Amino acid sequence: MKINEPRQNNLTQTSILAQNAGKAEGKLTYSSHLRKFKLRWILAVSCLPLFGIYTAFGIAPQNLNDVPISMVTEEIALPFENSTLKSDEDLSQTFWYKDYVRRDDTLNSILTRLNIRNRSVFEFIRADITASEIASSLTPGRQIKAETDIEGNLIQLEFELNNSQLVRLVKTEDGYESRKDLRVLTSQPILKSAKINSSLFAATDSANIPDHIAIQLADIFESEINFHTDLRKGDHFNVIYEGLYDQGELVKAGSVLAAEFINNGKTYRAIGLRDDTNKMQYYTPEGKSVHKSFLRSPLEFSRVSSGFSTARYHPVLQKVRAHKGVDFAAPTGTRIKASADGVVDFVGQKGGYGNVIILKHANGISTLYGHLSRFSSGLRRGARVGQGAIIGFVGMTGVATGPHLHYEFLVNGQHRDPMKVALPRTNAINASNKTAFELASTERLAQLSLLNSTNIALLE
Ligand SMILES: [Zn+2]
Repeated sequence: MKINEPRQNNLTQTSILAQNAGKAEGKLTYSSHLRKFKLRWILAVSCLPLFGIYTAFGIAPQNLNDVPISMVTEEIALPFENSTLKSDEDLSQTFWYKDYVRRDDTLNSILTRLNIRNRSVFEFIRADITASEIASSLTPGRQIKAETDIEGNLIQLEFELNNSQLVRLVKTEDGYESRKDLRVLTSQPILKSAKINSSLFAATDSANIPDHIAIQLADIFESEINFHTDLRKGDHFNVIYEGLYDQGELVKAGSVLAAEFINNGKTYRAIGLRDDTNKMQYYTPEGKSVHKSFLRSPLEFSRVSSGFSTARYHPVLQKVRAHKGVDFAAPTGTRIKASADGVVDFVGQKGGYGNVIILKHANGISTLYGHLSRFSSGLRRGARVGQGAIIGFVGMTGVATGPHLHYEFLVNGQHRDPMKVALPRTNAINASNKTAFELASTERLAQLSLLNSTNIALLE
């Protein structure tokens, strides 16, 4: 699961501030206690009027470049009545920490990161049936939040067990109690814009757009833009996607709701509407499907395949005979999709093609995928495949100097250029969904044009 939020949470950033403040004073010991004290000192400073902040940081000008000053202002809402710390208030102060499970995390490592120090929590989680699910569900990306007192004693903890359930631990008189809660996520649209300077992922990274939204974008406009080869510096896009919130806090991103992509001066738009099976389908503003009957590129678009250098690869067959297909350089193992609904006509080895798949489609069309490292398991002659189904993996079997997919498109046995052949679109919006589509379309187009007008200056 992807989390559409910077991994660094506010508290981590504030503790970085605290470290810098410590350096400024020449104190380089970062015991957790000192750090905590510094943290609270900085937080106290942030309660002063704004000029107070400048004064406070004025003592360490060399550190200012590293300090995300805007973060300080987000921390102002703290329970200090005034800037003087009283010692009893000091001790009753609590801290919220939020983090995400990492690969190789153990219960111990994640609780330590959350600054939980009391051993009784570890013992409770191991012994309690509900709480022990935390230890057995440490899937990377899952969110965990904890409130502790100044000594690191846990007050309460919230763990994202799966997409729909939370496990909560709450301190009681004589220990802890656990319970499972249903997680109700509310959806709010998120509007983003970005400009392509080098790659789609560089653009989405800089706009803080999650990877799976970038991949959805590439899939939506697949019929018009080959994201492996067609992107130009200066291309830009506006996207509206579902933000899924838990009590006002963004948890993750859902599906793209609408998007506009300007590629090489040409604008493409897509409006999403869920079909009867709740699957999001995309249409042009006129209600035609954005998808064509064949994919232009059968390669799955990913962070890895999009950044693959073509420099090392020279299609050897091109020199030997007229090249009948298109070569897509991609790392070995990149997934290959059936470019249209069809039936497997051949799967196996064939001379220079190496491992090859031939699919037969409607209207006398067939497609060929060569040099595969392997086939999807269970792929047999005569099997039906749907458009987009994973049929095999990029390799360099047969005559190939580097890993790539060799792709051919044939109509009645005659080769055509798959990048240029005219393709019919798939289904347009049906009559029963027309009203819903027009409503969605009007709203989304207004949002896209708002994004356009507010961002055009920024993007220049
Ligand atoms: Zn080739």
